[in-house]
Amino acid sequence: MKEQTIRRPKFDDAAKLKVYNKTDGCCHLCHKKIAKKNYSVIGTRGAWEIDHSKPASKGGSNHMNNYQPACIPCNRKKGNSSTQSARRTHGVTALPKSKQQKTELRKRKLLGGAGTGAVVGMRFGPIGAIVGAVAGALIGSNS
Ligand SMILES: [Zn+2]
Repeated sequence: MKEQTIRRPKFDDAAKLKVYNKTDGCCHLCHKKIAKKNYSVIGTRGAWEIDHSKPASKGGSNHMNNYQPACIPCNRKKGNSSTQSARRTHGVTALPKSKQQKTELRKRKLLGGAGTGAVVGMRFGPIGAIVGAVAGALIGSNS
């Protein structure tokens, strides 16, 4: 039997880390956690590969902006189908959030919560505003 040669670009550690960090270590298709150290180690927990979001066979480029981390089962199942249809099978539509996006969201929630609390607390005078802001911030950080 003739072995099929699949041309895959070689990724160095820096490139892998960059791709891994795009989603804060989640498969971009099913959003499950992947393990940084198990890159391409088939059969291990969190084993993952770098997926061409747009398949190379469909004109997807070998550029960082076309790379996403995917767990091996997802990547193999996806084959040449589109990222959107692969995600749909997992009931997700978007890319998992990067660490930076998560931090931004948390900050926004925290500020939003403090603001709401302060407005509510204002009715009870300046001390109420402070108590309200603190409570609001706590509520904001937990939600
Ligand atoms: Zn996956």
